[in-house]
Amino acid sequence: MAQIIDGKAVSLEQRELLKAQVEKMNIKPGLAVILVGSDPASQVYVRNKKAGCAQVGIYSESYDLPEETTQEQLLALIEKLNCKEDIHGILVQLPLPKHIDETAVINAIVPEKDVDAFHPVNVGKIMTGDYDFLPCTPAGVMCLLSHYGIDPAGKECVVIGRSNIVGKPQAMLLLHANGTVTICHSKTADLKAKCLSADILVAAIGKADFITGDMIKEGAVVVDVGINRRDDGKLTGDVDFASCEPKASFITPVPGGVGPMTITMLLKNTVKAAQLCSDKLGE
Ligand code: NAD
Repeated sequence: MAQIIDGKAVSLEQRELLKAQVEKMNIKPGLAVILVGSDPASQVYVRNKKAGCAQVGIYSESYDLPEETTQEQLLALIEKLNCKEDIHGILVQLPLPKHIDETAVINAIVPEKDVDAFHPVNVGKIMTGDYDFLPCTPAGVMCLLSHYGIDPAGKECVVIGRSNIVGKPQAMLLLHANGTVTICHSKTADLKAKCLSADILVAAIGKADFITGDMIKEGAVVVDVGINRRDDGKLTGDVDFASCEPKASFITPVPGGVGPMTITMLLKNTVKAAQLCSDKLGE
């Protein structure tokens, strides 16, 4: 039987630490959250992000823009927020409507306020290991591993998924932690053999219950990043929990595993952005 990695509990603990840190700061961290359109899932994420800000003492302001907002209008707003002194982090909820170029939008945010760590400058810094902000979901995974005393050093780490948001940065963070990392994706040959080699398996695929018990090694640490909605409306991960849990040493549930950590890491990045800004002003 695996030990369940409790993302809710770790997230709560991290938020308490952040709250204490914010109370001691000489500036109030501020986050601007931009939502374009009315995608219900995005609306929930944005609501949770704002609630998280309130919980730890971060000032937040939100911009709920209509679906037909033009790219120029969005870029103009970002330009304004780039210069706004009480805003230290800018978050544009993805995905954006099809007529807006996501890359152009991400690139328009000044790297100092890019609390999602998607800007190429921050992506480059993650590559070299000299970073200010870590991408939220992979950082959440690393925080969970550390909390449970799971050290990737010398371990076979297999990441399934190569997206810019999760898979690639996750692989890089595991590498920085001295894991021996394999990245798998939709064109990987014999995925099962790769999975069976993993001491630490991170699934970020977007396919419900894709990883089954016969694909994991006895005693593996199984981290499920996936968030998928079943036909009955229930949330499920990329890992078939029922068949993997008896073989794993540690496993994250969905919901309640990686999910709660992502927003907490966003809050952490916002506090860090404010601290860096305050340090700069004090120089
Ligand atoms: P994505 O669609 O951008 O990437 C999916 C990756 O899975 C791709 O790199 C693809 O090569 C790989 N893949 C697809 N089919 C595969 C197969 N048959 N075998 C091996 N690899 C395969 O998705 P993403 O944005 O990286 O998100 C992945 C999952 O994580 C989704 O379910 C998403 O909802 C979830 N997610 C969760 C959080 C969180 O906070 N927990 C944050 C971001 C994403």
